[in-house]
Amino acid sequence: MSDALPTFLDERVRVLIGDITTHDVTAIVNAANSTLLGGGGVDGAIHRIGGPQIYAECKQIRETTHPNGLPTGEAVITTGGNLAAQYVIHTVGPIYGRNPAREAELLAACYDNSLRIARQYAVLSIAFPSISTGAFGYPKPAAAAISSRAIRDFLTTDNQIREVRLVFFHPSDARVFLEYQEFE
Ligand code: ADP
Repeated sequence: MSDALPTFLDERVRVLIGDITTHDVTAIVNAANSTLLGGGGVDGAIHRIGGPQIYAECKQIRETTHPNGLPTGEAVITTGGNLAAQYVIHTVGPIYGRNPAREAELLAACYDNSLRIARQYAVLSIAFPSISTGAFGYPKPAAAAISSRAIRDFLTTDNQIREVRLVFFHPSDARVFLEYQEFE
Protein backbone atom coordinates (compact mmCIF):
# COMPACT_ATOMS: atom_id res chain seq x y z
CA MET A 1 0.00 0.00 0.00
CA SER A 2 1.03 3.59 -0.53
CA ASP A 3 0.66 6.63 1.67
CA ALA A 4 -0.85 9.59 -0.15
CA LEU A 5 1.34 12.68 -0.34
CA PRO A 6 0.76 16.02 -2.06
CA THR A 7 -0.76 16.34 -5.52
CA PHE A 8 0.08 18.75 -8.33
CA LEU A 9 -1.45 20.14 -11.55
CA ASP A 10 -5.07 19.97 -10.38
CA GLU A 11 -4.59 16.51 -8.86
CA ARG A 12 -3.44 14.97 -12.14
CA VAL A 13 -0.05 14.23 -10.54
CA ARG A 14 0.19 12.28 -7.28
CA VAL A 15 3.30 11.56 -5.25
CA LEU A 16 3.17 8.22 -3.42
CA ILE A 17 5.42 5.92 -1.44
CA GLY A 18 5.37 2.22 -2.17
CA ASP A 19 6.09 -0.58 -4.58
CA ILE A 20 5.21 0.34 -8.16
CA THR A 21 4.49 -3.31 -9.07
CA THR A 22 1.34 -3.20 -6.92
CA HIS A 23 -0.21 -0.23 -8.71
CA ASP A 24 -3.48 -0.79 -10.51
CA VAL A 25 -3.00 1.75 -13.30
CA THR A 26 -3.21 1.42 -17.07
CA ALA A 27 0.59 1.47 -17.38
CA ILE A 28 3.62 1.40 -15.13
CA VAL A 29 6.99 2.63 -16.32
CA ASN A 30 10.09 0.50 -15.94
CA ALA A 31 13.53 2.06 -15.37
CA ALA A 32 15.10 -0.51 -17.66
CA ASN A 33 18.60 -0.78 -19.06
CA SER A 34 19.35 -0.79 -22.77
CA THR A 35 19.42 -4.59 -23.01
CA LEU A 36 15.71 -4.71 -22.03
CA LEU A 37 16.51 -8.17 -20.70
CA GLY A 38 16.29 -7.49 -17.01
CA GLY A 39 18.36 -5.92 -14.28
CA GLY A 40 18.19 -5.04 -10.60
CA GLY A 41 16.12 -2.47 -8.74
CA VAL A 42 12.69 -1.69 -10.06
CA ASP A 43 13.45 -3.53 -13.33
CA GLY A 44 14.11 -6.76 -11.43
CA ALA A 45 10.94 -6.32 -9.39
CA ILE A 46 8.76 -5.70 -12.47
CA HIS A 47 10.06 -8.80 -14.27
CA ARG A 48 9.83 -10.92 -11.11
CA ILE A 49 6.23 -10.00 -10.38
CA GLY A 50 5.14 -9.51 -14.00
CA GLY A 51 6.37 -12.93 -15.08
CA PRO A 52 7.82 -14.40 -18.29
CA GLN A 53 5.41 -12.73 -20.73
CA ILE A 54 7.09 -9.34 -20.25
CA TYR A 55 10.55 -10.84 -20.78
CA ALA A 56 9.37 -12.64 -23.93
CA GLU A 57 8.01 -9.40 -25.38
CA CYS A 58 11.21 -7.53 -24.52
CA LYS A 59 13.22 -10.27 -26.23
CA GLN A 60 11.00 -9.91 -29.27
CA ILE A 61 11.68 -6.17 -29.34
CA ARG A 62 15.43 -6.90 -29.25
CA GLU A 63 15.05 -9.38 -32.11
CA THR A 64 13.05 -6.97 -34.27
CA THR A 65 13.08 -3.19 -33.83
CA HIS A 66 16.02 -2.79 -31.42
CA PRO A 67 18.73 -5.40 -32.10
CA ASN A 68 21.38 -3.15 -30.52
CA GLY A 69 19.33 -2.36 -27.46
CA LEU A 70 17.07 0.55 -26.56
CA PRO A 71 18.89 3.90 -26.72
CA THR A 72 18.96 6.08 -23.61
CA GLY A 73 15.93 8.36 -23.40
CA GLU A 74 13.71 6.23 -25.62
CA ALA A 75 10.73 4.09 -24.57
CA VAL A 76 8.94 0.93 -25.73
CA ILE A 77 5.78 -0.78 -24.51
CA THR A 78 4.86 -4.36 -23.58
CA THR A 79 1.85 -5.85 -21.91
CA GLY A 80 1.83 -6.07 -18.12
CA GLY A 81 1.97 -9.85 -17.82
CA ASN A 82 0.81 -10.82 -14.33
CA LEU A 83 0.85 -7.25 -13.05
CA ALA A 84 -2.33 -5.34 -12.26
CA ALA A 85 -1.21 -2.79 -14.84
CA GLN A 86 -2.25 -3.49 -18.43
CA TYR A 87 1.07 -2.27 -19.88
CA VAL A 88 4.69 -1.76 -18.94
CA ILE A 89 6.49 1.10 -20.67
CA HIS A 90 10.23 0.45 -20.62
CA THR A 91 12.57 3.42 -20.77
CA VAL A 92 16.32 3.72 -20.33
CA GLY A 93 17.53 6.52 -18.09
CA PRO A 94 20.97 8.07 -18.42
CA ILE A 95 23.81 6.69 -16.33
CA TYR A 96 24.95 9.73 -14.38
CA GLY A 97 28.33 11.04 -15.52
CA ARG A 98 28.44 9.21 -18.85
CA ASN A 99 27.28 12.08 -21.04
CA PRO A 100 27.26 15.25 -18.90
CA ALA A 101 26.28 17.60 -21.72
CA ARG A 102 23.10 15.66 -22.47
CA GLU A 103 22.05 13.82 -19.33
CA ALA A 104 19.36 16.29 -18.24
CA GLU A 105 17.85 16.24 -21.72
CA LEU A 106 18.00 12.44 -21.80
CA LEU A 107 16.30 12.09 -18.42
CA ALA A 108 13.54 14.49 -19.53
CA ALA A 109 13.18 12.45 -22.75
CA CYS A 110 12.48 9.31 -20.68
CA TYR A 111 9.43 10.98 -19.14
CA ASP A 112 8.33 12.66 -22.34
CA ASN A 113 8.68 9.56 -24.55
CA SER A 114 6.98 7.34 -21.95
CA LEU A 115 4.03 9.75 -21.84
CA ARG A 116 3.90 9.90 -25.65
CA ILE A 117 3.65 6.11 -25.89
CA ALA A 118 1.04 6.17 -23.12
CA ARG A 119 -1.02 8.61 -25.15
CA GLN A 120 -0.72 6.43 -28.27
CA TYR A 121 -2.08 3.49 -26.28
CA ALA A 122 -4.95 5.47 -24.75
CA VAL A 123 -3.51 5.12 -21.25
CA LEU A 124 -5.59 6.92 -18.64
CA SER A 125 -3.35 6.40 -15.61
CA ILE A 126 0.40 5.85 -15.46
CA ALA A 127 2.88 5.29 -12.63
CA PHE A 128 6.57 6.24 -12.82
CA PRO A 129 9.44 5.15 -10.60
CA SER A 130 12.25 7.64 -9.99
CA ILE A 131 14.19 6.93 -13.20
CA SER A 132 18.01 6.89 -13.01
CA THR A 133 18.17 7.76 -9.30
CA GLY A 134 19.06 4.25 -8.11
CA ALA A 135 21.88 2.23 -9.66
CA PHE A 136 22.33 4.85 -12.40
CA GLY A 137 23.31 7.45 -9.79
CA TYR A 138 21.45 10.56 -10.95
CA PRO A 139 21.37 13.14 -8.12
CA LYS A 140 17.86 13.13 -6.69
CA PRO A 141 17.35 16.92 -6.40
CA ALA A 142 18.25 17.46 -10.06
CA ALA A 143 16.14 14.48 -11.14
CA ALA A 144 13.17 15.94 -9.23
CA ALA A 145 13.40 19.26 -11.08
CA ILE A 146 13.90 17.64 -14.49
CA SER A 147 11.18 15.01 -14.17
CA SER A 148 8.56 17.41 -12.79
CA ARG A 149 9.20 19.93 -15.57
CA ALA A 150 8.99 17.23 -18.25
CA ILE A 151 5.72 15.88 -16.86
CA ARG A 152 4.25 19.36 -16.49
CA ASP A 153 5.23 20.30 -20.06
CA PHE A 154 3.61 17.13 -21.43
CA LEU A 155 0.40 17.39 -19.41
CA THR A 156 -0.18 20.97 -20.49
CA THR A 157 -0.39 19.69 -24.09
CA ASP A 158 -2.49 16.60 -23.32
CA ASN A 159 -5.99 16.09 -22.00
CA GLN A 160 -6.20 12.34 -22.18
CA ILE A 161 -3.96 11.16 -19.34
CA ARG A 162 -5.95 11.67 -16.17
CA GLU A 163 -3.46 10.55 -13.55
CA VAL A 164 0.31 10.39 -13.27
CA ARG A 165 1.61 8.68 -10.13
CA LEU A 166 5.18 9.21 -9.02
CA VAL A 167 6.00 6.23 -6.84
CA PHE A 168 8.98 6.39 -4.48
CA PHE A 169 10.23 3.29 -2.78
CA HIS A 170 11.79 5.18 0.13
CA PRO A 171 10.00 7.94 2.07
CA SER A 172 13.22 9.98 2.12
CA ASP A 173 13.27 9.98 -1.70
CA ALA A 174 9.71 11.30 -1.80
CA ARG A 175 10.73 14.06 0.62
CA VAL A 176 13.65 15.09 -1.59
CA PHE A 177 11.38 15.06 -4.61
CA LEU A 178 8.80 17.27 -2.90
CA GLU A 179 11.49 19.73 -1.92
CA TYR A 180 12.99 20.05 -5.41
CA GLN A 181 10.05 19.52 -7.78
CA GLU A 182 9.23 22.35 -10.18
CA PHE A 183 5.64 21.62 -11.13
CA GLU A 184 4.55 25.15 -10.48
P1 ADP B 1 18.08 3.14 -12.34
O1 ADP B 1 19.00 2.07 -12.84
O2 ADP B 1 17.30 3.84 -13.46
O3 ADP B 1 18.75 4.09 -11.42
P2 ADP B 1 16.85 1.62 -10.14
O4 ADP B 1 15.84 0.56 -10.24
O5 ADP B 1 18.21 1.24 -9.63
O6 ADP B 1 16.92 2.34 -11.57
O7 ADP B 1 16.31 2.78 -9.20
C1 ADP B 1 15.33 3.71 -9.59
C2 ADP B 1 14.44 4.03 -8.40
O8 ADP B 1 13.50 2.97 -8.25
C3 ADP B 1 15.18 4.14 -7.08
O9 ADP B 1 14.71 5.32 -6.42
C4 ADP B 1 14.73 2.89 -6.31
O10 ADP B 1 14.67 3.14 -4.91
C5 ADP B 1 13.35 2.70 -6.87
N1 ADP B 1 12.74 1.35 -6.76
C6 ADP B 1 13.34 0.14 -6.64
N2 ADP B 1 12.41 -0.83 -6.57
C7 ADP B 1 11.19 -0.22 -6.67
C8 ADP B 1 9.83 -0.65 -6.65
N3 ADP B 1 9.51 -1.96 -6.54
N4 ADP B 1 8.85 0.29 -6.76
C9 ADP B 1 9.14 1.60 -6.88
N5 ADP B 1 10.40 2.08 -6.91
C10 ADP B 1 11.41 1.19 -6.79
